[in-house]
Amino acid sequence: MVREAISVFDIFKIGVGPSSSHTMGPWRAAQRFLGECRDQGLFPGIGRVRVELYGSLAKTGKGHGTDVAVMLGLMDLDPATCDTRAIPATLDLIRSSGILVLPEGKAMPFDPAADILFQRGTTLPFHPNGLRFIATMSDGSEHGRTYYSIGGGFIVGEEGEGAGANGNAAGAGAAKLPMPIEKAEDLLRHCRERGLTVPQVVRRNETAWRTPERTEEGLEGIWEALKACAYKGCHTEGILPGGLGVHRRAAAMNRDLLDGAVYADPESWIQAIRAKGGGFQDILKWVSCFALAVNEENAAFGRVVTAPTNGAAGVIPAVLLYHACFCPENPEAPADFLLTAGEFGSLFKKGATLSAAMGGCQAEIGVSSAMSAAALTQVLGGSVEQSLMAAEIAMEHHLGMTCDPVGGLVQIPCIERNAMGAVKAITACQLALASDPAHAKVSLDAVIKSMWETAKDMNTKYKETSEGGLALQIPVNLAEC
Ligand code: SF4
Repeated sequence: MVREAISVFDIFKIGVGPSSSHTMGPWRAAQRFLGECRDQGLFPGIGRVRVELYGSLAKTGKGHGTDVAVMLGLMDLDPATCDTRAIPATLDLIRSSGILVLPEGKAMPFDPAADILFQRGTTLPFHPNGLRFIATMSDGSEHGRTYYSIGGGFIVGEEGEGAGANGNAAGAGAAKLPMPIEKAEDLLRHCRERGLTVPQVVRRNETAWRTPERTEEGLEGIWEALKACAYKGCHTEGILPGGLGVHRRAAAMNRDLLDGAVYADPESWIQAIRAKGGGFQDILKWVSCFALAVNEENAAFGRVVTAPTNGAAGVIPAVLLYHACFCPENPEAPADFLLTAGEFGSLFKKGATLSAAMGGCQAEIGVSSAMSAAALTQVLGGSVEQSLMAAEIAMEHHLGMTCDPVGGLVQIPCIERNAMGAVKAITACQLALASDPAHAKVSLDAVIKSMWETAKDMNTKYKETSEGGLALQIPVNLAEC
């Protein structure tokens, strides 16, 4: 039985950094709460809203911008299109005026320090990322709803409604796919039986939600957003917010690699990198530069594409830009890459988790590396079996990787970890292309199962709590704002 139908656009979503589970999920939960209040006719009577954050959202929510996200969500701003440069001023205005403006211009008193409560000592039973919105109505009664942010920007409601056994939510809604896929073996069977590539299978399945033309437009939009994010990160200097004093490095690397030349837009920049080419050292440096650029933007509350999470948002663009700049030209490649990567991401979501609060960093960087390895193998002409093998290799060498961000910020080790994930993906692809998958000893389904077992066995302090590992090795004294 197929549990879920997940579209490529559930896996890739344009939004705002720094975290899919701690920023995008809570943002969407706030919007959903308002929508449900509207549906129940409660919206006009709302006098005030307070928000309670639990578990990992309480422990690392400050550094991950969860408080910022719920405020912007209550304002019903669209994370895909809002002006990210205006966010600091918007927050300043809420703090200085004590007023938050809900949709339809409805102003309500709101004090972030009093109305957003970090319940660090409590974890709700269903999932470590729980949050609750409580509206105080004009007649004094209260209306509350609980949501869970289960990774990759997905949310589920009270008691985990709409979720599977591993806390996963249904994707783009109930849809009858022509070729349902729950496991890697299903994907392989469809490809073999019909003589299709992975992107051909995914294209047919996506017709369950929209026309082929709209799917292609959506993929083009994701590719444009990825390029724009990397370009911006490669052209922005300074120190990242949050108090750790982390310096941005991508801009200096970009300048050095291009001998100081400046290009006006992402397209001419990519063409210049392609024309310049480079030896092994330069190509390796570019891959790191692309990954750092995207995750510096992510850490700075910039516009990023969740892929499949925000903390791991740099791996896929780094590998796709590596292909665009240093591999044989192929105009079809970005769309095919994204379709393949999206399908492999959904395999991990169905069989394990995309949530670091459930499975540590193997669920973020590990999954993005496996997605990239499979997709790169596909666009470089590998077989379906080689794509499966590449994903298996990439994940095999991320198993057990913990999540222990310093100061609860998505900066150390997160930013560099994206570069490492991208390099591992390229290596996994090269190994798969040089191998006969018939000799593979471990299947992709087996490694996904191992990842989920490892996630369940992992000590809670290594699951996005900043209570263990690297997070304890660097003394931090971050401002509580
Ligand atoms: S350590 Fe990994 S999983 Fe944890 S916040 Fe950083 S990138 Fe995400």
